[in-house]
Amino acid sequence: MSKGNIYIISGPSGSGKDTILKEVLKIREDVFFSISEITRDMRNGEVEGEKYHFISREEFKEKLANNYFLEYNEYSGNFYGTPKAPIEEHLAAGDDVVIECDVNGAKALRKLLPDVISIFIMPPSFEVLQKRLVGRATETTEQVERRMNEALNEIRRADEYDYIVVNDDLSLAVEDFITVLKSNKLLLKNQKYLIDEVLKNA
Ligand code: 5GP
Repeated sequence: MSKGNIYIISGPSGSGKDTILKEVLKIREDVFFSISEITRDMRNGEVEGEKYHFISREEFKEKLANNYFLEYNEYSGNFYGTPKAPIEEHLAAGDDVVIECDVNGAKALRKLLPDVISIFIMPPSFEVLQKRLVGRATETTEQVERRMNEALNEIRRADEYDYIVVNDDLSLAVEDFITVLKSNKLLLKNQKYLIDEVLKNA
């Protein structure tokens, strides 16, 4: 059996990475999306356990001390962490795993797991990003400004990633994302097991 691979997806708020992921997960049911545990308040429309588990700062600190997270980061004054156990279980079962995290989390994961593939979701332009963030109306003006600054810093670090997927047309971006998953799977290093399997009864 081929073993699962880990993919990181990052991109600024408003890049549309959640929408792309949702569509990818509909098409690729064998992909496990890692649900992060975070300390920020729930936004309108968010559902506990769908993309995030919302926990208190105390709980987060306790879990951190117990080595519960694969990586974590503080972003806009809140903590975000990737739980380790579900990822290990899914990889062992042969599933691909997608971890959404910010640029710092991605850097930490690359160090920890040199084989991870990282994908940066890029907005078509900074103006489009600004429009999407303001139009979302889930944050105060001050929060939007803070996220725009963070977006600038993240885009400046997009060159740390293996792939860039531009989210202008959603269906094309989804197709590009799936192509990355597929092409990585076809690499020799991920298919070496096949050689032995075919030769087994030769
Ligand atoms: P938001 O509050 O907009 O949902 O997320 C803020 C940032 O945190 C985004 O860049 C998102 O990708 C990132 N993020 C989400 N989950 C995690 C995580 O588990 N670890 C890290 N390092 N970043 C995360």
